[in-house]
Amino acid sequence: MLRLFNTLSRQLEEFEPIEEGRVRMYICGPTVWNFAHIGNFRTFIFGDVLRRYLKFKGYELTHVFNLTDIDDRIINESAARGISIDEFTAPYITYFWEDFDALGNERPEVTPRATEHIKEMIEIIAKLIENGHAYESDGSIYYRIAAFPEYGKLSKISFEGNIAGASDRVDTDKYDKEDARDFALWKLVGEDDMPGWDAPFGRGRPGWHIECSAMSMKYLGETFDLHAGGMDLQFPHHENEIAQSEGASGKLFSKYWVHSEFLKIDDVTMSKSKGNFFTFRDLREQGYSPLAIRYLLLSVPYRKQLNFTFEGLKAAESTIERLRNFRSLVKEVALNTGESSSVTDTVEAALQKFEAAMDDDLNTAAALAAIHDMVREVNTVIASAGLSADEKIAVLDAVAKFDAVLGIFGKEDQELLDEDIEALIAERQEARRHRDFARSDEIRDELAAKGIILEDTKDGMRWRRK
Ligand code: AMP
Ligand code: ZN
Repeated sequence: MLRLFNTLSRQLEEFEPIEEGRVRMYICGPTVWNFAHIGNFRTFIFGDVLRRYLKFKGYELTHVFNLTDIDDRIINESAARGISIDEFTAPYITYFWEDFDALGNERPEVTPRATEHIKEMIEIIAKLIENGHAYESDGSIYYRIAAFPEYGKLSKISFEGNIAGASDRVDTDKYDKEDARDFALWKLVGEDDMPGWDAPFGRGRPGWHIECSAMSMKYLGETFDLHAGGMDLQFPHHENEIAQSEGASGKLFSKYWVHSEFLKIDDVTMSKSKGNFFTFRDLREQGYSPLAIRYLLLSVPYRKQLNFTFEGLKAAESTIERLRNFRSLVKEVALNTGESSSVTDTVEAALQKFEAAMDDDLNTAAALAAIHDMVREVNTVIASAGLSADEKIAVLDAVAKFDAVLGIFGKEDQELLDEDIEALIAERQEARRHRDFARSDEIRDELAAKGIILEDTKDGMRWRRK
């Protein structure tokens, strides 16, 4: 049975969805104002592993993952460039999905954009005004925290004592609020200001928190199973989402809350504002593979901080290679006549250890250890006795199961088609004619790596598969 650490209770809890066999979950997505960095991707890969493991456990899934395509940075940057917010965010949305896919993440079922859900946000705000959980001040609408006594139940931040005591945690620069803790649901904008949307309570634009309440409840209902995101979202973002959603519906918002820890660099949290970050593209340009980056980011359990180093990334690169070579070796191994060995027991034990580790609050480090143990033991057997047909199937089946959850083995090398080979050989001849031996050697090596052997004969160049 899967156990997850629920931030609401600060305890490990058995995971039981509200509806049997089906999980509805929401994960806060990126703000598309720039390239996502690998810290952001640590959180998103954690979300992907959680998603894949829920599917592995047999649940049907509705997973919503939003794009925040409006916030102050987006508004300021697009205004500075004299373009609309849509024009500004469009390339970053494209880059984001390219990186997300390249890192082997599965696309969630629903990927809504904030600016396409303003109507739903306005509806919640209207409800909150109506039932006394929100009020107007100087044309903007604020959430009235005094009307929601449970405020603080997620982050466990105590607001008792005087407001000054809480002033480092809340926005005190607005004196038009009833209480320093109150936060904006709707910000007044001028008649001609862009972006702006008309609402019964005046033209404005939404605050950040209301968008996730609106998009989650639209696609998952007023109460759903699981809400996740990075650690820094606990407060104020998720606390405010709870206040808005529960204030409007009067019902529990999310049953489980799961938060992943930071990626650090030199022991400082990686962030755009500090400038101490690498994007996925930075690392690709340096020649690191998406699989190694993914492996590194998921190798430490999500509730532990992870310090990024290039040594760690290089080690991940060779680990990935070892795993991929293992899979190829098992595929190609000559079959023995089936004398009994311990391989099927080894595989069975590895699968059990893997599942027990993942059940234990997604302990990816222990799950990886189970895989590496199996690889080591099966390699030894292959070297001495080979595998029987059944053993080979059992090992490959286990690898496929591990990979369905972690996505670290990657696609198998595609076999080159005959016409691709012919084209490469023609290109190589052409390169040699131009005395471009570097390119010629590169093509020879590429073909060799795919098992294609070139032979110079008196009738010209011949090739064959190894
Ligand atoms: P943002 O695009 O700023 O809205 O952030 C997207 C996600 O990345 C959020 O869930 C953040 O909690 C998460 N995040 C930001 N910095 C880090 C970091 N250094 N390590 C892990 N997650 C992070
Ligand atoms: Zn959110």
